[in-house]
Amino acid sequence: MNYIRRFFLTALISCSLLLGWVYLLGELMPEEPAEPMWQESLRQLHDLYRVTYRQSRMTQQQATQADADSLHSVAVIMRAIAESERIHCRICQQAIESLGDNAVAPTISETEVLTSEQVIQQKIAQKQTLNQEHLPQVIEQLLSDNNRYIARMLTWYNANNNYHILLLKACQEGNFTPDDAPAAKKDRTTAYYVCPTCGHIEAMELAPYCCPHCMTSRSKFVLFKHP
Ligand SMILES: [Zn+2]
Repeated sequence: MNYIRRFFLTALISCSLLLGWVYLLGELMPEEPAEPMWQESLRQLHDLYRVTYRQSRMTQQQATQADADSLHSVAVIMRAIAESERIHCRICQQAIESLGDNAVAPTISETEVLTSEQVIQQKIAQKQTLNQEHLPQVIEQLLSDNNRYIARMLTWYNANNNYHILLLKACQEGNFTPDDAPAAKKDRTTAYYVCPTCGHIEAMELAPYCCPHCMTSRSKFVLFKHP
């Protein structure tokens, strides 16, 4: 009888120790970052996060450069685009975090100083590549993962990037005359709203009551204009 009692007691203690060890192991080991089904989407979101992070900071710098060149209308557009890109960067970050991972900001290397005209040409090319090659792939992947919520946010990004291209092209078409030069056009639009939720840009006089993408009220839009 003693043997049986001792046997059960030993078995009980061994089981408790084993369970405790398994529990501790679970606590100490890092968690899997996300469900395996999200892995491919996550990888693409990390890439996009780094692109938008760099873009928003560089566009901001270029706006300062445009102001220094007396291209104030161009600077207003660049600031509005930088803000829109910053919001896209935040959307990518939130998407990564909602899938259980951490977004790591890239280091920004010094780049050569380009003229506003060169910068705009480069940005148009980058945005066209992003819209034609990368974004459709990421959105496709998210839809096949059945992650429609994040796919929709990146569709905003896709649509906004197209509008950025139009604005940058408008800058290209004869708008590199400094604003204080006698030949400068007086009728150009110089005020833009940016939706703080999805980054949608709208010329001030055309702004609808709510953002057409995400229904954020116009009263919350951020205004960019030349003082
Ligand atoms: Zn919006």
